[in-house]
Amino acid sequence: MRKPLIAGNWKMNLTLAEAEALAKAVKTSAASYSDRDVLVYPTFLQFTTAKQALAGSNVSVGVQNCSAEKDGAFTGEISASQARDAGAAYVLIGHSERRHVLKETDVFLKQKIDRVLEQGLVAMLCVGETLAERESGKAEKVVLDQLNAALSHLTPDQWQKIAIAYEPVWAIGTGKNATPEDAQSMHETIRKRIAELNKDIAPKVRILYGGSVKPDNIGALMAKPDIDGALVGGASLKSESFADLIKNAI
Ligand code: 13P
Repeated sequence: MRKPLIAGNWKMNLTLAEAEALAKAVKTSAASYSDRDVLVYPTFLQFTTAKQALAGSNVSVGVQNCSAEKDGAFTGEISASQARDAGAAYVLIGHSERRHVLKETDVFLKQKIDRVLEQGLVAMLCVGETLAERESGKAEKVVLDQLNAALSHLTPDQWQKIAIAYEPVWAIGTGKNATPEDAQSMHETIRKRIAELNKDIAPKVRILYGGSVKPDNIGALMAKPDIDGALVGGASLKSESFADLIKNAI
């Protein structure tokens, strides 16, 4: 029922030429799979180049962030409407690197969700606990609080444009991924909470797992009933490993 989604978050990596070459390779590797969706998040500066390289393909392109404001004097920011204008289909909101390094708060992220939805784009909300929060038994509460703060006000129509990425902070870029069982348990918790907010939409929302996803562990993760895809950092930067991730994502 939910089509798998494999997303590559390129973060602050790659030159323009490397981004173009990677986008061309992703176009080729995604071409043979109509039963799964593929998405990449280049930097803003690489966005148009990647988008052009992917023209005519089945790969979507998103941006890694947008402003909480509509427009105006916000130096260094880009708005959701500019992302739409450039051809973005998705906006990543609340990645843990932005929550923790740049101190983005739940209130701020809710505003960003609203900006993205106003433009008719899909907002992919990242949620996830730190190691200390997990070890003190607070993981579920932290994740559900993040979810509630950003999404509990949405209308049924708005929910159609939401995807979630569960990324435990301790698993990002560390080589330590959550076990498929632990990830499934959190995804199930998230889906139950969505059902409390909107029972019809809960079975439709795609919930991706992120954190040290590699070609050799994606299959076991995606075999779990509530894991609908992966948000991949490091392994999305090499064309061969991203091709294998797409291939093994079922
Ligand atoms: P890694 O796949 O490098 O652990 O990064 C995960 C991530 O943060 C994707 O958004």
